[in-house]
Amino acid sequence: MFSNGNEHPKLEEVKKLSSGYGDRPRKMYKITCSDCGKEAEVPFKPTEGRPVYCKECFQKHRKY
Ligand SMILES: [Zn+2]
Repeated sequence: MFSNGNEHPKLEEVKKLSSGYGDRPRKMYKITCSDCGKEAEVPFKPTEGRPVYCKECFQKHRKY
């Protein structure tokens, strides 16, 4: 992995905590759809307290 160098221990911790940091197109977040209850993955970080939908339901809800 990382050899010693510019990386500070604290920085590494931050990186682990915010693993979605930066633009990583393949980073997916597991969610449980608020509509059908199915498990799904979304390419964005779900906002706490807000409903998240699987792809199907997301499109359904967008049309409103
Ligand atoms: Zn759904």
